[in-house]
Amino acid sequence: MNILMDYSKAELYSIFESFDMPKYRVDQLFSAMYNGKDYNDNINLPKTFLEKLGELNYVLQPIKIRKFIESKSKDKTIKFLYDLVDGNIIEGVLMKYEFGNTLCISTQVGCKMNCAFCASGLNGFVRNLTAGEILGQIVAVNKFLDGTYKDRKITNIVLMGSGEPLDNFENVRKFLQLVTYDQGFNFSVRNISVSTCGIPSKIEELADLGLAVTLCFSLHASNDKTRQIIMPIARRYSIKEVIDSLKYYHMVTNRRIIIEYTLIDGINNSMANAKELSLLLKDLPCHVNLIKLNEVEGRELKTPTIDSCKKFIDNLNRFGISATMRRSLGDDIEGACGQLRNREIADDKLISKSNHNDSKIQNIHKNNQNKTKDPTKILKQKQINQNNKQNRRKNYQNSN
Ligand code: SF4
Repeated sequence: MNILMDYSKAELYSIFESFDMPKYRVDQLFSAMYNGKDYNDNINLPKTFLEKLGELNYVLQPIKIRKFIESKSKDKTIKFLYDLVDGNIIEGVLMKYEFGNTLCISTQVGCKMNCAFCASGLNGFVRNLTAGEILGQIVAVNKFLDGTYKDRKITNIVLMGSGEPLDNFENVRKFLQLVTYDQGFNFSVRNISVSTCGIPSKIEELADLGLAVTLCFSLHASNDKTRQIIMPIARRYSIKEVIDSLKYYHMVTNRRIIIEYTLIDGINNSMANAKELSLLLKDLPCHVNLIKLNEVEGRELKTPTIDSCKKFIDNLNRFGISATMRRSLGDDIEGACGQLRNREIADDKLISKSNHNDSKIQNIHKNNQNKTKDPTKILKQKQINQNNKQNRRKNYQNSN
């Protein structure tokens, strides 16, 4: 199998030189492919040439829309399930805003990262998507919206679907080159966001590409301890290490970093968390996007109330951090990353049980519940801590 969308136009010219195809024929093939046409559509190319491509297993459209579900709410978000040529399934979301249409794109089948609030990792990692399979999601949805590549109906793209983009670095790098190509979709880097759970060396590599896309860091916790429980990647890299690489990204690209913070009830949404978060971010040019948790079947985590979300924003703003609440889209269509795909796989009786450390999450809940908010108890505890500290100091002085 050879996915033609993986190649740039220059690479296609050199591939088809051996077919004795003049360049204008390759241009026609390129236009047809970017407009979502497949072999059985009406393509203005010699039939013998198209037959030969088919025989040689050259794939024109690596992504086909398997099904879509439109939200009944006002925002009309659409969730897509796509079929890949090898039988795998991925998903994506189209979000409609006043300024245009934003397509959320997947970069891997499944995900290795297994974050506790996300359904993408529940069935593990299957494989990386190629650059053409990432691009193919735009081609498919643009066609669905009656767009062409010269009159595209998608204005923004966010690499925030299933998969960790920086864990599939080479294909994502190639995709970014293809999608910004001025004779192709010609997206501006200003309209592209890449979201990462935080791999410092790759963040620095992305900075050095000179593409200056908007970088979003999925932080979701205000300290390493909590982050290590809800995001296993945090056991490899501390928040400080990631923030240092984000500072480098900002220095090289001059782009403000977006911090993604999903509010999870009893886990990361207290006043103390807001204060801790503001201290972490005080030297980073950034904006915090707060997201109300989209509950996932099979995960233990709970959505906080609207009131507590508002309080969290107010606290962040009070501590000098720019923050807004992201509109929650697609609640009625399993909008959280990976949910729809999992249901489809479950329907095919392929689902396996998660081995995520949900018991640890229950423990955080329990601990946080035990941390009573009674001020007299807090003062008492402070006094005990103070006494312990003084005793330790005395012992230390005596021993010297
Ligand atoms: S949040 Fe992103 S990195 Fe984490 S499991 Fe989901 S897709 Fe993977």
